[in-house]
Amino acid sequence: MEVLLANEYGFCFGVERAVEMTEEALQQGATVRTLGPLIHNTQEIYRLTREGVTAVETPDETDKSVTAVIRAHGVTPEVQRELTERAAQVIDATCPFVTRVQRLASRAAAQGRHVVVVGSPDHPEMIGVKGYAPDHAFVVRDASEVENLPPLHAPLVVSQTTLKLKTFLEAAEAVRAKADKEPEVVNTICSATRDRQDAARSLAGEVDAFYVIGSRHSSNSMKLLAVCKEQCERSFLIETQDEINEADLADAERVGVTAGASTPNWLIEQVIERLREIGKL
Ligand code: SF4
Repeated sequence: MEVLLANEYGFCFGVERAVEMTEEALQQGATVRTLGPLIHNTQEIYRLTREGVTAVETPDETDKSVTAVIRAHGVTPEVQRELTERAAQVIDATCPFVTRVQRLASRAAAQGRHVVVVGSPDHPEMIGVKGYAPDHAFVVRDASEVENLPPLHAPLVVSQTTLKLKTFLEAAEAVRAKADKEPEVVNTICSATRDRQDAARSLAGEVDAFYVIGSRHSSNSMKLLAVCKEQCERSFLIETQDEINEADLADAERVGVTAGASTPNWLIEQVIERLREIGKL
């Protein structure tokens, strides 16, 4: 049985950077606390917990004995200020792609313009970005929600980094009808999610079974599974190699593997090793 890995898989740039920054702080002997779980992967969170990294919910759970880590989603300027006051040190692991959206929003608000951010209002990334344009920003899920906005002044339109392009373009078009000037539309979608989905899609058509490695609460892993299922009926989401059911691989000659953007390499390697063992049986 041949085991084939998708061309793009696993940790995205921003998540890998956040984990590396956290580990560097640990190596320097710091007591590390992340503001919210660092990534959406249960096994990697367990591993970090064993190394001494735990999560806090709010800045007031930190004090001068800890190094606080801001995860890749970023936070509002108020939360960053509070952390800086309370913690011994703050490591800002906000993904640079998210920082770009925060800066664009901040600049537009300083110019007295409205900011429309297309994304999920409850997502931490969106809460953070909105905080950079207080009293000027609106977060909308899609074009239908633009209808409810007040008249917009010289708006900037940006997107959550993981949004679908179609949703963003439709919302930007709807903003145009509400604006007193031509909106400034900046596509801030990051390619990591799309690249993983495109690579999985192209491999799924060539294999007999497909494994997506990721946590069930990781939305990008669940989306990868949906993409694989379109091409390969025997597609499964697994968190670890222990969830591989040999019976699912009966008669399979080629097996595809991919992993969500929060899945660490060590988990991927364990799954590949297990599949190769089964392939030799
Ligand atoms: S998905 Fe993109 S924007 Fe989000 S953390 Fe990863 S690289 Fe950064």
